[in-house]
Order: sequence, then C-alpha cells, then structure tokens
Amino acid sequence: MSKTKKKSKPSAANLDFSNTEIAFAYKSNKELKKAGWLFSLMNKTWLVNPLSDLGLLAMKLHVPFTKSIVRETMFRQFVGGRTLLESTTAIEKLYEFNIQSVLDYGAEAKTTEHEFNKTMNENIRAIEFAKINQSTPVVVSKISGIARFGLLEKIQKDRSGLPKSVLVEYRNVLKRIDSICYAASINGVSVMIDAEESWIQDTIDHIADLMMKRYNKERVVVYNTFQMYRHDRLKFLTSSYDKAQKYGYLLGAKLVRGAYMEKEGGRAKEQGYPTPIQPNKQATDDAYNMALRFCIDNYKAIASCAATHNEESSRLQAEMIDEKGIQKDHPHLNFCQLFGMSDNLTFNLADAGYNVAKYMVYGQVNEVFPYLIRRAKENTAVSGDMSREYGLIKKEMDRRKL
Ligand SMILES: Cc1cc2nc3c(=O)[nH]c(=O)nc-3n(C[C@H](O)[C@H](O)[C@H](O)COP(=O)(O)OP(=O)(O)OC[C@H]3O[C@@H](n4cnc5c(N)ncnc54)[C@H](O)[C@@H]3O)c2cc1C
Repeated sequence: MSKTKKKSKPSAANLDFSNTEIAFAYKSNKELKKAGWLFSLMNKTWLVNPLSDLGLLAMKLHVPFTKSIVRETMFRQFVGGRTLLESTTAIEKLYEFNIQSVLDYGAEAKTTEHEFNKTMNENIRAIEFAKINQSTPVVVSKISGIARFGLLEKIQKDRSGLPKSVLVEYRNVLKRIDSICYAASINGVSVMIDAEESWIQDTIDHIADLMMKRYNKERVVVYNTFQMYRHDRLKFLTSSYDKAQKYGYLLGAKLVRGAYMEKEGGRAKEQGYPTPIQPNKQATDDAYNMALRFCIDNYKAIASCAATHNEESSRLQAEMIDEKGIQKDHPHLNFCQLFGMSDNLTFNLADAGYNVAKYMVYGQVNEVFPYLIRRAKENTAVSGDMSREYGLIKKEMDRRKL
C-alpha cells in the first residue's frame, strides 16, 4: 500500500503458517482463553443459527444487556471499536507487529439520502484519520452504503432512456464517491471499493473505472475488487488492465474469492439465467491464483491486494514475490485478512517482511451486528470438524499449557 511503514526485521521466505507462537504473540493468556471460548461456541453449528436469530430479535427489541453481551464477546473479537478513536488501541497493537489496518466503517443496509451522506462523511473522516496515521493507509468504501441498491440495479438493467429523477439520483452517488476519492487523493490515502452482488456489480465497476481513471495517474488511490468465484472475472481483470494501459493510469486490484455465492446461485436458479459462479471450488481457486500471478507479472502497472484467508494463495503470492526477486514490501504487493481471523497468516507474513493489513471494521454495536452474524456463521464447524480458527487457537492454548 502506498504509505511507508516501520522497517521489519529481515526473515526467511520460509513461511510456516502453522506457527501459532508468532500468530498469537500479541494475545495474553487471558485474551487467548477468551478467544478460545468464543470460537468453541461458534464451532457448534446447532447453536449459532438460533442464537443469531435470537440476537437479531433482541437487538431490534432493545432487550436489556444485549448490546453489552455482544460488545464483550463477538464485537471485541471482530471489530476495532465503536468509533475510529476507540479502534486506535487495536490498530496500534497490530502496528507494533508491522501490520497495517484498512479502515472499514461497518454500517450496512442504508436506504435514505441522509444516511448515504452520513456514510460518505464517515468515509471522509476515516481518510482524515488515515492521513495522520502511518498504520492506516487505506479506507474501504461500499457503494451500496452511499447509493440505493435499487438504483444501482436499475442503472445496470437499463442503461439508456433512464428518467431524469434517476439520473439526478445517480449524479449524487457519483458526487459522493468522487468526494471520497478526491479526499483520499489529496491526503495520501487509498480507497478500496468493495465488490457486491453481480446484479449491481456492473454499475460498481463502471464507477470504480471512472475513479481509477481520474485519480490513479501517479499512484494507486482507488482499488476495484475482483471476485474470482465469478467465471468472467479473469477476463475482466485483464480487460481492466488493458483499459488502464490505454488511458494511462495504474490499476488497483483487490482480489477476493467472493462472499455472495449462495445468493448468486439462488437468484440465477429462481430467475432462470446461467449462474455467474464457477462450477466448483477448484475452479475458483485456480482463477484466484491465476489472477494473483497476472497482477504480480504486471506489478509495476498494477497495485494488488490478496484479500484472502486461503493459505495456499497467500503462500503462492509470497513465493512469487521471492521468485521474481521483488522487494517483499513493495507498495504494489499486499496481503489482507479480516481483523479477528487468520492471525496465523497475517502475523507470519508480517514477521517475514511482507506488506500485510487487517480489514479493521468499526461502528456502533447495532450497526455492525449483521457483520458479526456473518463471522459467526463462517466460523461454525464444517461437517463435524473443528473450524480452522478454533483449531489454531486450541493449538496455541495447548502449546502454552493453558
Ligand atoms: C480483506 C478481505 C476483504 C474482502 N472483501 C470482499 C469484497 O469486497 N467482496 C466480496 O464479495 N467478498 C469480500 N471478501 C470475502 C471473500 O470474498 C471470501 O468470501 C472469503 O474471504 C473466503 O474466501 P477465501 O479466499 O478467504 O478462502 P477460502 O476459504 O479458501 O474460499 C472460500 C470461498 O471460495 C468460494 N467457493 C466455495 N465453494 C465454492 C464452490 N463450490 N464453487 C465455487 N466457488 C466456491 C467462495 O467464494 C467462498 O467464499 C473479503 C475478504 C477479505 C479477507
């Protein structure tokens, strides 16, 4: 990412992602035990679904103590704090280990113009915070947080002949995202535009391309996100690169597998169109790794971020950087995981001298609650096994004889 950070001690490219001593060095015994308890609860599939529904209801009905229980458990594990200031403790702690933070205002499902402006202001406030902190080079922007979902969908569906009211509403969206990217541009910060559902993604891609063309002339201010679980995205990545070359700007590419697989498949089936998703996990993994390779092969013109919890892909990127003899902390080559997850990747990569960051979600408890439910569901046991996170924490607890 674009800001320089503290120099890390040099270490071998010989990564050991099973090294839990390095992964959890920042956690005291008490903190580790608490995380172990939380992940053991999330490990129970039969408990997570009813508890999530109950939690949502309790939050809606303002049942006493709900917020404080959530704050002391899930929130503490996966969220930096209610505000940027409150997140500073987590950000600074990570930075002691050479890990940067990507600021992600976690409020979701906004619907009014007032709320969209509020989110924009929150993004700009985060940029101003990022400007004065070496530990925070990037801010996240989710287009559905500054625009009505139905509007993005409508624009994607019928590009021509849109009524004036729609065009005016869309112009306001463009003004909002432009204000965010402009603020980032003049303050030495970058913006990652998240990828969302395929039926609004064309509109998001169009907006991201406009912003990259405007702001990525000298450095990568804006990153678009490429969901490699879609079978058309490798082609889209190469065409985005061609476009950037043609118009003389740098491409920002955050690479993810994709978070809406069930929703995508379900909608395609319901509406009778071919699914945009790859035929199987292997195809997604292959496409993801090819995308990594493409970005590294063209790293002078593309700044990329491997946003993944997948060990193999993370290792592959590290190996390719080494093979090509590129400096490990080149600002165009980055890794990123979510705060509270996959510390074994983050801390071992940072220890080896690569550029690593955590997506640091922040927001009020009720605002980030849907995000927390997704994290809980993601960490339930798969077919009776222990979840990946729980296994790692348990291993470290055993090592420390806790
Ligand atoms: C820092 C960060 C930022 C992110 N930003 C976004 C974002 O902007 N937009 C977004 O959509 N997601 C985003 N994600 C989530 C991401 O897309 C994945 O859902 C999540 O990270 C799990 O994938 P993985 O690469 O970590 O690894 P893995 O656990 O190896 O892969 C799981 C993923 O593989 C894919 N998959 C699983 N089964 C199949 C199958 N049968 N067929 C085809 N594909 C399959 C799915 O995408 C699934 O999520 C982000 C993740 C991180 C860590």
